[in-house]
Amino acid sequence: MTLYLIQEQYLRDWLAEIIATGRRVIAPQSENGLVVYREVTRAETIDLHARAKPDFSFKHILFPQTETVFRYEWRERRPVVEDAAAETSADAENASASVQGEVVVVGATPCDAASLLVLDHVFLADPPDPFYARRRENLIVIGRSCSHAQPECFCTTVGLSPVSTQGCDIFLMPLGADLCDELDIGSGFVAEVLSEKGEALVANVKATWVKPNGSDHSTWLNELKAAHLRAVQAEMLPRRALTPSPDELKKDFEHPAWEEIARACLSCGVCAFVCPTCHCYDLSEERQGRIWSRCRNWDSCAFGYFTLHASGHNPRPTALERYRQRVMHKFCYFLEATGANMCVGCGRCVKFCPVGLDIYQARARWP
Ligand code: SF4
Ligand code: SF4
Repeated sequence: MTLYLIQEQYLRDWLAEIIATGRRVIAPQSENGLVVYREVTRAETIDLHARAKPDFSFKHILFPQTETVFRYEWRERRPVVEDAAAETSADAENASASVQGEVVVVGATPCDAASLLVLDHVFLADPPDPFYARRRENLIVIGRSCSHAQPECFCTTVGLSPVSTQGCDIFLMPLGADLCDELDIGSGFVAEVLSEKGEALVANVKATWVKPNGSDHSTWLNELKAAHLRAVQAEMLPRRALTPSPDELKKDFEHPAWEEIARACLSCGVCAFVCPTCHCYDLSEERQGRIWSRCRNWDSCAFGYFTLHASGHNPRPTALERYRQRVMHKFCYFLEATGANMCVGCGRCVKFCPVGLDIYQARARWP
């Protein structure tokens, strides 16, 4: 890991240079009353001091909401595959561009960057998903610390924090006013360069990036992060940490509390669509004239037909079984398989659930 101090203007100049190289740069942008990760073409539109996390994560960059896996045409009673990587939706067109060149996400929150570890585990397992793998190879993540918590945030209960660097190639944190005064730089950032991809991205701009004085940088950085964390944590609702205890959840699989927890669920699937770690998809066939497309679309375990068998049997017939599955998958099955929760505590499913179901509260009923 290499550490740099950067004046804000130099940071912006560097981002402008990245855009000028032709790489696609994605950053949180306002759109129709929401904040979403979108492509930017001017560095000055990147908010380096964003107060809130984006409303949606950037998982669509790696895993588009809909994409064509391949196309085929029936000729003489045989399917002839036409175009193995053609993609049709707007998201998929964006994602397809990322297959050809690097995509740099700037301003990823710690929860969104950490969600990459979950997606990697799923899509890069043997055999890897070739669509995801190519996009992931080309993705560079510049994360940033969160300077404010929102009411739904609970990252600190699942082992993350507003200063976590997991999943980041470079991590930015604003320097406090006192440090900026001391360095006489107006406003500035500390940058942790955490990977080879990150090192490659800063290789040409180091002249304007200063290494901090002294040798014990880790102590200095830890103190800076601890102070930052204390300030943000003071804004978070008091919640206890969710200790990894898959056995407790399994033991109470039939507990009557599930009925009460899931009673209000509408099975709308919003929670899965806004979740940075949810990754279920369905494959469907679409036809335009003589051409057929095999399409991959986001799916949700909340949907009534998600587990419907061809026989007509459905092992998860009601919202109770489906919502329980969501909680068990996030905090039990995935944990058993990988050692990590499948929830990064972003709270988006809580914020956007139309009936206010709270996955933290559901999980916190158990030790
Ligand atoms: S928990 Fe909320 S968002 Fe999720 S399916 Fe049920 S009603 Fe929809
Ligand atoms: S389950 Fe909810 S809180 Fe957890 S990562 Fe998904 S959207 Fe965020």
